[in-house]
Amino acid sequence: VLTIEGVWKNFHGHSVLRGIDLEVESHEVVSLIGASGSGKSTLLRCVNLLETVDDGAIYLDGEEITDPRVNIDQVRRRLGIVFQSFNLFPHMTVLDNITLAPRQVHGVARAQAEEQAHGLLARFGLAEKAKAYPDQLSGGQQQRVAIIRALATQPRLMLLDEVTSALDPELVLEVLGIIRELKESGMTMILTTHEMGFCRDISDLVCFLDGGVLVEKGPPEQIFTSPEQPRTQEFLRSVL
Ligand code: ATP
Ligand code: MG
Repeated sequence: VLTIEGVWKNFHGHSVLRGIDLEVESHEVVSLIGASGSGKSTLLRCVNLLETVDDGAIYLDGEEITDPRVNIDQVRRRLGIVFQSFNLFPHMTVLDNITLAPRQVHGVARAQAEEQAHGLLARFGLAEKAKAYPDQLSGGQQQRVAIIRALATQPRLMLLDEVTSALDPELVLEVLGIIRELKESGMTMILTTHEMGFCRDISDLVCFLDGGVLVEKGPPEQIFTSPEQPRTQEFLRSVL
């Protein structure tokens, strides 16, 4: 689905991504872990074309999306992205939040978009919240709506950046549950997380970043039980 090849990103002469190589296969869940400032969010932002890369290339389904001539909107239509802060439109109901992009960007008729939205809300236990406004929901519910909104355009790939870190601990579980269900439904995802237990549980591939370098990647059992690189060992010792 996605190939990241030798990606470099600099901010003010300082390299925050240093030659990242990563391959994401269909139906795979890839986690990015690493200390604050290691470049996890920047890498996701490069994939979503919120940042331009300074060197290297990113391919989505074989198409180079870092090509300057690419249609950015057309690329973003194939991606679902959810951030730590939910970014729901506060003046719109849950239903309108979810149906906005399918209707306005993808040209889906209102009735069809709403039917699909009701289906997603029911699937994720929010059927009775369709008419609610974001401020009438808990943080966990808002984040679930944000994930549903990203799903409503049937993305090829979901990018989830610390989707639980703004939540109280008791709300984290319901959001992790929805991500687990997405995995079971075969969604391809790249996520960043500080929840190591969850990461270990859900990931097919774990990538450890340090100072913009992808130091080590492997299946969770390997990364969490026998990491090869001293920097990975040190990081895991500090967080586990
Ligand atoms: P966290 O775990 O805290 O979310 P992160 O791994 O997501 O951290 P990034 O947000 O990718 O880290 O930041 C990587 C580095 O790039 C940091 O040193 C940060 O200060 C820098 N950086 C990110 N965005 C910008 C920007 N727009 N301008 C300048 N520097 C930036
Ligand atoms: Mg981040």
